Amino acid sequence: ERTTVGVVGLGAMGLGMATTLAGKGFAVKGFDLSEARRTLAAEGGVTPVEALTDVFFDTNFIVFSLPTAKDVAAVVEANLEALKAAGRRVVIIDTSTSEPDVSRDLAAALAGLGHGFIDAPVSGGPAGAASGKLTMMIGGSDADVALAGPVIDAMSAKALHVGPSGAGNVAKLVNNLLAAAHMVTTGEGLKLALAAGLDADEALKVLNAASGKSMISEVHFPTWVMNGRFDSGFTMGLMRKDVRLASELAARTGADLPLSGAVAKLWAESPLENAEDFTRMGAFRPVANDN
Ligand code: NAD
Repeated sequence: ERTTVGVVGLGAMGLGMATTLAGKGFAVKGFDLSEARRTLAAEGGVTPVEALTDVFFDTNFIVFSLPTAKDVAAVVEANLEALKAAGRRVVIIDTSTSEPDVSRDLAAALAGLGHGFIDAPVSGGPAGAASGKLTMMIGGSDADVALAGPVIDAMSAKALHVGPSGAGNVAKLVNNLLAAAHMVTTGEGLKLALAAGLDADEALKVLNAASGKSMISEVHFPTWVMNGRFDSGFTMGLMRKDVRLASELAARTGADLPLSGAVAKLWAESPLENAEDFTRMGAFRPVANDN
């Protein structure tokens, strides 16, 4: 019999995860507040449900792909009765980039009801979600991670169980802090090259053949920045959230991060208008008319 998996949140990431799971033989029930997203999921072999609680009925695993920790907590809260009444163990696999403390609190609350909750934020963008090749960073108990193994493996090329509850989101915030910094440093490096009379494409080629490279310079700049398309599928608003969460984590843990402080300030102050994408930051665009 096919394992039934629920997916809550069928956005840029969740849609690809849901259709990947359906394509790999899971029976998938998907819910999103947006009807348009539910329709897209149905076209990809997912059974759309009209009410959030329907996702909690008859499933052993529920994947979340929601914008913020607040959304994650609200969805769990709204379904506590359904979870209390469930006559089986449910493991929630939260792939949202969320807050470590919220992950820990939800895992503890759900453990009290006999259910599992693991934080499993991801890297790889919509393309990685749609191809089942995400990198997943996981926090949770060994037992829950093992139970969720087949679902995790179907969605990811690399799944790293980094520690107990909350650890996945700590790892993800560290990763995105670096990605946000690389956006700034790569943009500034190319800006300097331009100012000093070097062609930006030539400068980028050099970086990618030398020690200045990162995934941002190797993938993001050639694919979404240099051509002015800025359509990676990740939004400015989500990146600002991640950088803010990383800064809050630094403040709470007493980690003194001077450069990250400057990066966080740049992201927080960057204009949001016309910012469908996190690279749409005038100051960092490596184009000659940037002033
Ligand atoms: P998105 O905004 O495209 O999708 C979120 C979806 O959740 C939307 O379709 C929205 O309608 C839905 N939603 C919101 N509240 C809901 C609720 N209560 N019930 C049901 N559906 C609800 O965002 P995304 O880009 O898919 O990102 C999802 C998460 O993954 C975020 O935490 C983000 O930071 C993280 N992430 C995104 C990327 C990326 O490249 N887009 C990469 C890695 C991680």
